[in-house]
Amino acid sequence: MLATANAHKVEEYRDLLPDVALLCLADLPPAPEVPETAPDFAGNALIKARDARGRAGTIALADDSGLCVDALDGAPGVYSARYAPGADADRVQALLAAMAGRTDRAARFVCVIAVAGVPDDVPLPPGGWRDGECVLVRGEVEGRLALAPRGTGGFGYDPIFELPGGAVVAELDAAEKHAISHRGVAARAVGPLLRALVDRGLLLPPGAAAG
Ligand code: IMP
Repeated sequence: MLATANAHKVEEYRDLLPDVALLCLADLPPAPEVPETAPDFAGNALIKARDARGRAGTIALADDSGLCVDALDGAPGVYSARYAPGADADRVQALLAAMAGRTDRAARFVCVIAVAGVPDDVPLPPGGWRDGECVLVRGEVEGRLALAPRGTGGFGYDPIFELPGGAVVAELDAAEKHAISHRGVAARAVGPLLRALVDRGLLLPPGAAAG
């Protein structure tokens, strides 16, 4: 069970975690979205993973992610999805406006994955940590904010996140994005843990009816 209603995240995780069957919130009976009230990515990932585990009764994964801009003291951060009303393009414009005239444009994408319902004896992945019955991993990618949006791929702030090579993430294809992205780093870290859970019959392999 992947605790997200964000279709872009679902698509990326189905590519990134090919060894497990991933249902998402859209496959459960409709329910109000759980409020993301924590001050950090890990706290919100835990809230979403535990809520989905409670609702689905299976092991549940959640991703909390966002863009942190140094010059804005880490904003939009956990508020990335809610930084401005409207669509992704409106939030991109709002962030560019907040950064108008700034030359210090360093930023990073951060992703924390929480997996709820992991038995105590399952080894932690490298860099991972535990919070009760949950295991968490974190991935980051460093870059800088471009002056204007470019490219047509990805979602969210991808059109203005410029990598050290000069391309923005929206100019990469999906495989190129996965190779460098915060979500790719975190998903590769959690992959062996998920495979261990499949081996124990606690998660279903791809093609199975639930997971
Ligand atoms: P969440 O669903 O609360 O984790 O919000 C994540 C938000 O962070 C998204 O709606 C995007 O605005 C931004 N974000 C997270 N990951 C990415 C990414 O891979 N590319 C671009 N924007 C992202």
